[in-house]
Amino acid sequence: MRQIDHFVDGNSLVGASGRFGDVFNPNTGEVQARVGLATAAELDAAVQIAAKAQIGWAATNPQRRARVMFEFKRLVEARMDELAELLSSEHGKVVADSKGDIQRGLEVIEFACGIPHILKGEYTEGAGPGIDVYSMRQPLGVCAGITPFNFPGMIPMWMFGISIAVGNSFILKPSERDPTLPVRLAELFMEAGAPAGVLNVVHGDKVAVDAILTHPLIRAVSFVGSSDIASYVYSVGAAHGKRVQAMGGAKNHGIILPDADLDQAVKDLIGAAYGSAGERCMALPVVVPVGAKTADALREKILAEIDTLKVGISTDPAAQYGPVVTAAHKQKIENYIQMGVDEGAELVVDGRGFSLQGYENGFFVGPSLFDQVKPEMKTYQEEIFGPVLQIVRAETFEEALRLPSEHPYGNGVAIFTRNGRAAREFASRVNVGMVGINVPIPVPVAYHTFGGWKRSAFGDTNQHGVEGVKFYTKVKTITARWPEGATEDSAFVIPTMK
Ligand code: NAD
Repeated sequence: MRQIDHFVDGNSLVGASGRFGDVFNPNTGEVQARVGLATAAELDAAVQIAAKAQIGWAATNPQRRARVMFEFKRLVEARMDELAELLSSEHGKVVADSKGDIQRGLEVIEFACGIPHILKGEYTEGAGPGIDVYSMRQPLGVCAGITPFNFPGMIPMWMFGISIAVGNSFILKPSERDPTLPVRLAELFMEAGAPAGVLNVVHGDKVAVDAILTHPLIRAVSFVGSSDIASYVYSVGAAHGKRVQAMGGAKNHGIILPDADLDQAVKDLIGAAYGSAGERCMALPVVVPVGAKTADALREKILAEIDTLKVGISTDPAAQYGPVVTAAHKQKIENYIQMGVDEGAELVVDGRGFSLQGYENGFFVGPSLFDQVKPEMKTYQEEIFGPVLQIVRAETFEEALRLPSEHPYGNGVAIFTRNGRAAREFASRVNVGMVGINVPIPVPVAYHTFGGWKRSAFGDTNQHGVEGVKFYTKVKTITARWPEGATEDSAFVIPTMK
């Protein structure tokens, strides 16, 4: 069976732990490869190599570091088809969507190409008599990223793109469910001119994660995954003196005001709810129509769209979404569907038992739709992360605003309306980190910043954009004077500008 190895110091490294994780082909349900799960000692060996490599890399001028980013972008673009197919083969998302996954990551690399400009510090001439003050951003040393299965291209690039551009070296611990693409990206990064040891991929599970969180040489940890693990990573990493940003789960709402363009809103909703089988932290699994008339019309239009949805294998160009990632995840989604029925929601479309001819053992779940979902239901409170759309009916704008604001998750939200004033008020008052106005998946562009609120993010610095640069650097401020001849007497009172 194919084995997926670590990538350390510019080379493939066969794991020696004797522990492995299964990597499935979600289309067929078969195990297609196994991935070595690192021990703490294996992680430590990679960190030592990264620490050595970081010294020379930090001393490389930012323009040269940026050239690696430019070349990496070119190499990935040239291999887009092959890389997207590889991603799909382990994740299950359709190839066109895998290209989007990689492309969104490349957009952060594009941002990182501008790092010489972004890293320019601040300077004040004459802050006092003959005194100049300037500040600079310096890299932290070795940083680490722990990533989820659902964006094996984009999320690793969010992290290592910026961390390495500013002069750190990096340990990437990708999801053990789709680990091959991150290794290919690291290989291409070396091919683009990065010195060996600057980007290392160490596969693993909790053992490797704990080793990262407690390793004295790792200065910062970026995590993306489910909220309970994010909270754990944040508290353990911070207790070990690290900077930590830990993005968690989500339950994003789409609010439909009565004046919305319903046909357009439904098209947007369907893509956002069922695309990638709902396995996106910026999916829209909850729709909140305001008023019974809007709700009834919306439900009919959603049903008509579901009727035309095509679920297929990830390489089928006509398929709109493919299988979910594992049998265990499929089971979890189906359990939530049953829970929704037991809680008294109306199951309008049941995606359980969906079977694709020739791929009967694939991890497919058909599109599912619930109506009459109530805020107190567990299936509303929790993240399902599957192709399940829930309609929660609201009577008023205020009630629709309260639902996402009071929900435990606060990643993204979207409002559909033709009323600019209502949209503006909603965006201003809603207690959620990323807002779309007639935009169903409001993932900010790479030079802005990505991050949710409440249980969707622990720590206070977002991913990418200038916030990402701040996360991976520390600022140093220098106050300098060059006195001529004798200086004044000692000052025992703090100097001020009075
Ligand atoms: P996950 O939490 O199971 O895994 C994420 C990472 O944590 C993986 O690398 C995994 O190996 C590691 N891990 C798993 N169990 C662990 C444990 N007990 N201790 C330490 N580490 C552990 O998440 P997933 O299923 O891979 O990804 C889906 C989740 O990620 C969803 O909740 C989704 O909303 C979330 N997500 C959030 C964002 C965001 O930006 N907020 C983006 C993408 C995905």
